[in-house]
Amino acid sequence: MATLAKPAVDASGCETKRGTCPICGVGCYVSAKISNNMPISIKPDRTAGFPADCPRAGQAVEYHDHPDRVNYPMKRTGKRGEGKWERISWDQALEEIAEKMAAIRDKHGPEAVQTMGGSYKGAGDSSCWRWSNLWGTPNILYQGKNCGEAELLCEWAVYGDQSCIGNAPIPGVTKSLILWGVGGSMALASQRKNLKAFQAAGGKMIAIDPCQTEITDLADLWLRIRPGTDGALAYGMLNVIITEKLYDAEFVAKWCNGFEALSEAVKSFTPERTSKITWIPADKIVEAARIFATNTPGHIPFGLGTAELGKATTSAVFGKTYLRAITGNLDAMGGSKFADPPSGTRFREEMHWDTLINHPLRTRDNISADLWPIASVKGLKAYRAAMDKVHPLGVGPGIYNMVIAPSALPTAILESKPYPIKAFILQAGNPLVSLTDARRLHEAMLSDELELSVNMDHWMTPCGELADYVLPATDGLERPLLSNMWGFGDAHSASRRTVDPRYERRDDYQLWRELGNRLGQQGMWPDTMEEWFDDILAPTGVTHGDLADQDMPWVMPAPQYKRYEGSGFATASGKVELSSDLLASLGYPAIPAYEEPAWSPERTPELFAEFPLIMSTGNSLKWYYRSQHKHLAQMRKQHPYALLTLHPDTAAKLGIAEGAMVWVETPMGRIQQMAKFDKGLHPRVVHADSHMWYPEREADGDAHYGLWESNINAILPDGADYSDYAGDNYMRALICRVSPVAAN
Ligand code: SF4
Repeated sequence: MATLAKPAVDASGCETKRGTCPICGVGCYVSAKISNNMPISIKPDRTAGFPADCPRAGQAVEYHDHPDRVNYPMKRTGKRGEGKWERISWDQALEEIAEKMAAIRDKHGPEAVQTMGGSYKGAGDSSCWRWSNLWGTPNILYQGKNCGEAELLCEWAVYGDQSCIGNAPIPGVTKSLILWGVGGSMALASQRKNLKAFQAAGGKMIAIDPCQTEITDLADLWLRIRPGTDGALAYGMLNVIITEKLYDAEFVAKWCNGFEALSEAVKSFTPERTSKITWIPADKIVEAARIFATNTPGHIPFGLGTAELGKATTSAVFGKTYLRAITGNLDAMGGSKFADPPSGTRFREEMHWDTLINHPLRTRDNISADLWPIASVKGLKAYRAAMDKVHPLGVGPGIYNMVIAPSALPTAILESKPYPIKAFILQAGNPLVSLTDARRLHEAMLSDELELSVNMDHWMTPCGELADYVLPATDGLERPLLSNMWGFGDAHSASRRTVDPRYERRDDYQLWRELGNRLGQQGMWPDTMEEWFDDILAPTGVTHGDLADQDMPWVMPAPQYKRYEGSGFATASGKVELSSDLLASLGYPAIPAYEEPAWSPERTPELFAEFPLIMSTGNSLKWYYRSQHKHLAQMRKQHPYALLTLHPDTAAKLGIAEGAMVWVETPMGRIQQMAKFDKGLHPRVVHADSHMWYPEREADGDAHYGLWESNINAILPDGADYSDYAGDNYMRALICRVSPVAAN
């Protein structure tokens, strides 16, 4: 492997170095011009095999030294939310936090500490999992819960592996592709070239989306679905495939359990009935089923839109899972290939770190285990019992997949149910704008019942303002990276620190290491993040620094296919469990029934009469990554205010002009957004921006930065309406009414 030349130094003394884009968690490579330890300019670096085709990368210089960055540890001096702070040293902060945590553990047990991570920051995330595990708390919350984790847990239950993440079509090999609920996401925009090559080679692309997007424009067949009815559509397509005998009979006979039960479960979903539920013409449902079943290998990748449907999530993600299986696409080249989990490094151990299963101090499962046992220690044990003979090192759900359902957190803080949470350690997350039921979480974060609240971030946020301690974090340019996509693939990529950390910013790893060393975890933490990465990479024989210095800084073993032919599937039966014993053992139906979303024209017609528009939220916005980047001038210029997107005909009927402020109202309350027209939307469907807050706004009482002005999460339903399966958020297929602000 060729090694990068030493950083070039130009006539003005500036070095050009490879680094990691600091803007968001995707972690693209950039080429940074550095002078006196400061980045002067940054542009995408495509030589490292990661196409950074993204308009946000150019803002990295502003991001790195923005005047609003948090640069020193701070301690609250007034009441929570009062905005009074004093600068303290790292030592003081760590000593005081550790002392409070020890007292909480002594009085309430280790489970009383809740940890939470927000935007992905590279392998440093797993330092939080390691700490939580060694400490003995099962109360971890990670971005996966807000990002469609239900689909992964479902695939692991049915196949014992997952195919939905990290699996792109192979032009000339993949014959069909269903892009289901992917919207116009940035990730797929960057794959546009590959999608076009796939189609040019004869591949058939089906898009399922209520809105017209760049993906639906590319597709050979677009099914414009009523939001939230994806489970019915999947069951309708299964009905066609089974009735017309288009499934892979040999694969089903040899490798699937429960085919008869599945056939029975989808029998009533005739094309006509499915059409009535989904608003898709029956002939298009039949056409889609035939295309997918007769053009193999084919694949259905992950789609966030199907995993944020609240109660309707379960049948949607299971329906996709069954479709991949009975068409014989599993682990096939060009089809639904299973992820190759990290095989040549020690990252698997970081993911699983089995202490949690039998921790000596932990006596209780996580705070949402009773309602959503699939994502709990009990669930983890069930998966491991089923999977261990094929994946003895614990491929599949890891500690971080067993995270709590977010709605359980305010209840545990405010009501001590099922037991108290007394400390909340939050890193680079902003759940008051990124999770539903924000008002109740706000109440919990202000409450004296919460004895310790710590926030480590790049910026002061609405959540940071409610913390007791705010700690400064390094950004992507200041931090080394070993990226492994949470272990969903067998590739690792590395980069060094591009500049030394400015001010008193520290790596997230250092927070957990320092707390661990003060709280009985001595000997478990290498001194630096680089040494820890060396340890993870040790089996490869390459150090983190050596890997980062290679022209192509990747460890990437060759892919493997159809491994089940040798070892069976990683389920209790060794087969694909269309009717799942694992689900049944945890008290779930072995095959889920189709359910309407909690608010819908069918389930709650009286409510729908009052709130007659179907609303989705949570789509990726071009200029922002979730709740981030609201400080950056260029990005704010492009997207200054939260947008409510609606069809112009709908707007005309409501007397709304484009650019006007509108009330967006649900049964939970109302917020303001700005009207934007889109002819591609169904006239009965609107989209409300999520994750919007305004750093320049003055505090309003104890709410900061315009928290309640446009924040869609302030008016979404609470936990009772979340997915019955894994407790994932309910952000699509909601209902609302919209009116001009000027009128009332
Ligand atoms: S902002 Fe995110 S997606 Fe864009 S270049 Fe940077 S890391 Fe990559």
